[in-house]
Amino acid sequence: MERRPVAVIECPEEIPCNPCETACPHGAIRVGKPITRRPELDLAKCTGCGLCVAACPGLAIFLVKEEGDTAEVTFPYEFLSLPRVGDVVTAVNRDGEPLGAAPVVAVRQVRTSDGTWLITLAVPRSLADEVRGMRRLNR
Ligand code: SF4
Ligand code: SF4
Repeated sequence: MERRPVAVIECPEEIPCNPCETACPHGAIRVGKPITRRPELDLAKCTGCGLCVAACPGLAIFLVKEEGDTAEVTFPYEFLSLPRVGDVVTAVNRDGEPLGAAPVVAVRQVRTSDGTWLITLAVPRSLADEVRGMRRLNR
């Protein structure tokens, strides 16, 4: 994995969908034709801008940055209230199962977002491929 944030696309089904492709300003994602093809990512073109994360209606794209023993995992978030930078939350996996406490290191929207927020957690590098969301510690 990269020492800069890059997109991780977890879109396993062949469905008629391509907002990820049209959202990427760098041509890093290709769905092509037919539109049911699964997206392909060209890592070399990805800047980690996060536009595709906010654009994906399936909430199926993440950003991962790995450096040293730690990783930063960014995921789309559409609930209120929003966490704040510095909050400690429970990192969860794809099934919503808890993986441990993690600090929130970024809360942002990209310029094209229609309401989706991007939340970034700092986690142990060993969990970079597992953490895909959060919940509050007391829930
Ligand atoms: S993070 Fe940005 S550059 Fe990378 S694939 Fe997504 S939209 Fe393209
Ligand atoms: S926008 Fe999301 S759900 Fe649609 S093809 Fe791209 S990754 Fe899959």
